[in-house]
Amino acid sequence: SQPVHVIGGGLAGSEAAWQLASAGVPVLLHEMRPQRSTPAHQTGTLAELVCSNSFRSDEADANAVGLLHEELRRLSSLILTAADRHRVPAGSALAVDRIGFSTEVEAALAAHPLVTIIREEVASLGAAEWPSVIVATGPLTTPLLAQALQGLTGEDSLAFFDAIAPIIHRHSIDFTKAWFQSRYDKGGGNDYINCPLDRPQYETFVAALTAAETMPFKDWERDTPYFEGCLPIEVMAERGRETLMFGPMKPVGLANPHDGGRRPYAVLQLRQDNALGTLFNMVGFQTKLKHAEQVRLFRSIPGLEQAEFARLGGIHRNLFVNSPRVLDDVLRLRADRRIRLAGQITGCEGYVESAAIGLLAGRFAADEWHGRTPVLPPATTSIGALLRHITTGAVAATFQPMNANFGLFPPLDGGSGAPVKGKANRRQALSARARRDMEDWLTAGNAVCGGTAETAA
Ligand code: FAD
Repeated sequence: SQPVHVIGGGLAGSEAAWQLASAGVPVLLHEMRPQRSTPAHQTGTLAELVCSNSFRSDEADANAVGLLHEELRRLSSLILTAADRHRVPAGSALAVDRIGFSTEVEAALAAHPLVTIIREEVASLGAAEWPSVIVATGPLTTPLLAQALQGLTGEDSLAFFDAIAPIIHRHSIDFTKAWFQSRYDKGGGNDYINCPLDRPQYETFVAALTAAETMPFKDWERDTPYFEGCLPIEVMAERGRETLMFGPMKPVGLANPHDGGRRPYAVLQLRQDNALGTLFNMVGFQTKLKHAEQVRLFRSIPGLEQAEFARLGGIHRNLFVNSPRVLDDVLRLRADRRIRLAGQITGCEGYVESAAIGLLAGRFAADEWHGRTPVLPPATTSIGALLRHITTGAVAATFQPMNANFGLFPPLDGGSGAPVKGKANRRQALSARARRDMEDWLTAGNAVCGGTAETAA
């Protein structure tokens, strides 16, 4: 019967194709390189690593991406198998020989009897004779395909660059200085976390912001547009000492309970970023500052001295959809359920995350091909938490790319028992719970945990 078409042979597309073929499903993998390249790729090989050769931390008890490695190994991931085989020394990180790694991924797919690799650019998604398609064309998807995607998602749901404000773990915010309140007590009255600055603190902060080092845009990113509504915070600060006070740091409509209910001189607001309420983003603080500068500067804001960042800010050329709005819970486009998305285009970020979402897209498509209803991995696993975040957990209005982190996991205490004290213990406990739940899910033949997927409309 009909093959599944996978478009894009990067980290996600290669993994999706492998999972499909491993499940007995014929695959046509369309990759445009080497005929046509992207501004970042250098070779014609599948699963090329466009920048660093690191898959980041391999510590499953201390880091959500390390835990994701472990889960991917458990789920027979081609990307992780090849990475492990081509590992180079990198301390507690998993780093690879990039040529050996990509060559191995390509060789495995080329040798699989159910995989056919077609070297061509795909320019449209309209082919009704393709009953099942996975689009995994990444952050540098070609313009024609991007246009086709935009036709299905609508203009407002496809972004061509990201504008990421830092995201902070709520538990690391000091509420002896910060407080919950919406401006003028609007809505529920308590939707935002506020961090107050007095005049000297504000002036020092603005001076430090304008002096801090930024990351340069790459040559091919130079035309990345800034919209007036999402200028980097440091660009706003350069426009004048008071610009931020009349912009994202305006103090109006707020009363600081730690200062007798007085209005602060300036304020940083944080808005809830996920349905779980574990993560909060710094409102209006999208930035190109270097990461070390962000940590140094933002921890100087009262209440954030001990802030743990789930992710730091950035602005890059990056094509991605507003997944919570346009995808269903098994990664299909609501507008056309023949089509699944996978990889960075879904708004996950990073090599490992892209491979993980590729793995799920491949497995879900394979389930459907066999007439089975896909069953989601538990929300308490790293892969399940990431999937939940991009499809249903993230706030659609402020959706920006996200990497794997423990802030995406349902809290441990969940209303019963005492909370686990200490960062290291908490992380260990989250990993232990994830491991248990992953094993239960696998033992049940993926058939009991996590709830079944939405049925096709
Ligand atoms: P890709 O790996 O980019 O794969 C997409 C594939 O689709 C490519 O092979 C491309 O040639 C192909 N393609 C595109 N359009 C078409 C078409 N129309 N028809 C057919 N084929 C098509 N993440 C990290 O973890 N670490 C890093 O150091 C890192 N550095 C990055 C640097 C840059 C410049 C960029 C852009 C991203 C970086 N990322 C990094 C983020 C991200 O993890 C990678 O981009 C990752 O490769 C995404 O995986 P993917 O499979 O979604 O896309």
